[in-house]
Amino acid sequence: MKKTVLVSGGAGFIGSHVTVELIEAGYDVVIADNFSNCDLTNYNGACAITGRKLPLVEMDFCDPEAVEKLFSDYKIDAVIHFAAFKAVGESVWEPLKYYRNNVESFINLLETAERHGGCNVLFSSSATVYGEPEELPVTEKSPRQPATSPYGNTKQICEDMLRDTVKAKPVIKGIALRYFNPIGAHPSALIGELPRGVPNNLVPFITQTAIGKRECLSIFGNDYPTEDGTCLRDYIDVVDLAKAHVYAVRRMLEGKMKEDYEIFNVGTGRPVSVLELVKTFEKVNGVKLNWKYAPRRAGDVTAIWADPTIANKELGWKAERTVEETLAAAWAWEKRVAEM
Ligand code: UDP
Repeated sequence: MKKTVLVSGGAGFIGSHVTVELIEAGYDVVIADNFSNCDLTNYNGACAITGRKLPLVEMDFCDPEAVEKLFSDYKIDAVIHFAAFKAVGESVWEPLKYYRNNVESFINLLETAERHGGCNVLFSSSATVYGEPEELPVTEKSPRQPATSPYGNTKQICEDMLRDTVKAKPVIKGIALRYFNPIGAHPSALIGELPRGVPNNLVPFITQTAIGKRECLSIFGNDYPTEDGTCLRDYIDVVDLAKAHVYAVRRMLEGKMKEDYEIFNVGTGRPVSVLELVKTFEKVNGVKLNWKYAPRRAGDVTAIWADPTIANKELGWKAERTVEETLAAAWAWEKRVAEM
């Protein structure tokens, strides 16, 4: 029988890509989203790619009655929880907004899942939990550092809540996927990243500058102790990232977990500097980007990239797309957005 996966925040950037990969892998999906930080574009795109009218519930995970109704209406075999606020800077100015939304929603989800007899829960975590790492690349065993923002803290708190709940309640199993820097878009250019206002992240800022929406890209800092002076990151293609979720869900549903709570790094293992990324974007897409060096951005770490060995071995997953392919997809998506 087909298994059903609930995707909270399924109308967002990563959630919509995961939805598509789940459907292609033969799962049924229920999308739940409150549209607080997205519109219907990616939902409609996911429906177009999969050729289905995907079940969509408009609801807020901070509303326990709505979560209860969701679990009563559908037989849910696994949940992937994306629904959360994600702007690091805003979380510093509005910490309680972040704690309430990101933590309370996950409490409601875990409580309800337990009441309904248990569930496999996949939490979308972040490499931000590693802070400024002492050793590179980071493994799952690398120590977590105290969070430097309320956003980062919500990721640590939710990881801990899942770990502790799994320990106390045998009917709940959990996986936390720690994402490095997700970028790119679906090759169909029907779904992608749609930041509201001025983008915080590098690649949306690059594509918006290339299309003429922004005047100039600032590269934050060229005095870091790296080869070209700019920061190093592990940019992971969003479709590759989405596939990692399918492998993780399958591992849970097929009872292949080695422990009831597991953590996997989801990255390529390949560090790329900001400058390299900018130059690669220009080269693969044949566009000239207006950019300048600017002072460092507060809170940025010098370098972080993943050791993805455990995900490669245990999940049987590996990042496949090249940075070139990914940046071409990001550009195709931006051009499509311009036509909308
Ligand atoms: N960055 C930049 N200009 C921008 C946005 C980001 O130079 O307009 C740099 C940032 O300093 C970091 C890298 O790009 O070194 C990735 O930043 P992003 O915000 O995309 O992800 P983060 O690694 O902070 O989660």
